[in-house]
Amino acid sequence: MKGKLIIFSAPSGAGKTTIVHHLLKMIPQLEFSVSATSRPMRKDETHGVDYYFISVDEFKKKIDNKEFVEWEEVYTDNFYGTLNAEIERIWKKGHHIIFDMDVVGGLNLKKQFGEQALAIFVMPPSIAHLEARLKLRETETPESIARRLGKAEVELKTADQFDTIILNDTLEHAFEEAEKVVGDFLGANNE
Ligand code: 5GP
Repeated sequence: MKGKLIIFSAPSGAGKTTIVHHLLKMIPQLEFSVSATSRPMRKDETHGVDYYFISVDEFKKKIDNKEFVEWEEVYTDNFYGTLNAEIERIWKKGHHIIFDMDVVGGLNLKKQFGEQALAIFVMPPSIAHLEARLKLRETETPESIARRLGKAEVELKTADQFDTIILNDTLEHAFEEAEKVVGDFLGANNE
């Protein structure tokens, strides 16, 4: 079996993490790609499950050692990246990889892996919805929310560069769409 990549990208707060978690429950051949990040851990997160939490210095060392397939400074001093070793780890187990990534990283991976990857953009119903969801999270400061919303305006303009767009108007609808497009992609020429 040739390992595939399923990439979910969206502005922060669009609901992509919820959709990714749903798919992980529904499709057993999928495994989540745990990114490395230098941002602080939130209270509901676990090292090695949500992210590999490392310092800015460690992150920069790994960049120098070319350990990342892609990386980005998403916000100042908040680095995020996918380790080559993470991709190898998952494919070795015979699993397909699912990614939760910002749009720049998502398009970067798609460019590198071509037909082996399905890049999905999760579209929020509006910027106002994003703001409401970020506030509900209760983990973001007002500055962090403003920064994420500013970035979202730019990110929404990249939607048509993705293979598929899923509108997250209701979670039921988004789950159904996601199961269909991912199921079709994994089903196609899955030897
Ligand atoms: P958060 O701080 O909310 O967990 O993530 C901030 C943004 O960074 C999100 O859009 C998230 O999807 C993105 N992100 C997470 N992991 C990676 C990664 O490995 N590479 C890139 N480029 N972005 C990532």
